[in-house]
Amino acid sequence: MSRRAVYPGSFDPITMGHVDIIERVAPLYDELVILLANSPTKSALFSVEERKDLILKSLSHINNIRVESFSGLTVDYMKEKQISIIIRGLRAVVDFEYEMTMASMNKKLAPAIETMLVFARPEYYFISSRGVKEIAVNKGDLSGLVTPIVKTALEKKIFSKG
Ligand code: ADP
Repeated sequence: MSRRAVYPGSFDPITMGHVDIIERVAPLYDELVILLANSPTKSALFSVEERKDLILKSLSHINNIRVESFSGLTVDYMKEKQISIIIRGLRAVVDFEYEMTMASMNKKLAPAIETMLVFARPEYYFISSRGVKEIAVNKGDLSGLVTPIVKTALEKKIFSKG
């Protein structure tokens, strides 16, 4: 059986922090599924299709990834696809409690599923999707925080709204 893992998240939009985690983790598995949360309770700047497109274009150099979206629980998607590893990235200490709670909840729902935490690279640990949106709105410099394709998409999305 092939070794697969799921990296779930909002990716609104994908940042260099996410890109780095994916570049480091994808070689460890046969396939890494990037699972876009299609949550009705979270309002996103980019649509699921736009976020998917930005992920694929930002990661065109990696050939064993797949981008899927799912509106239910990550563990339900995983049970359906028979995948048993969740990848999550860990930035500062503030992420720890949230990630531990999520991992424990998922363990309760699906005991066979393991969560693997990957530390952010020091040069990327401060990057968040929320932060880059804030910088984009205020016309700050996004270079090094997102890929050039995401930078262009953010500027277009925010400033062509009128
Ligand atoms: P969510 O809304 O589920 O937290 P995100 O898209 O914000 O989704 O993040 C997805 C995963 O990527 C989370 O585990 C998050 O901690 C991780 N992540 C986000 N930014 C970074 C970063 N700069 N470095 C490493 N991991 C990150």
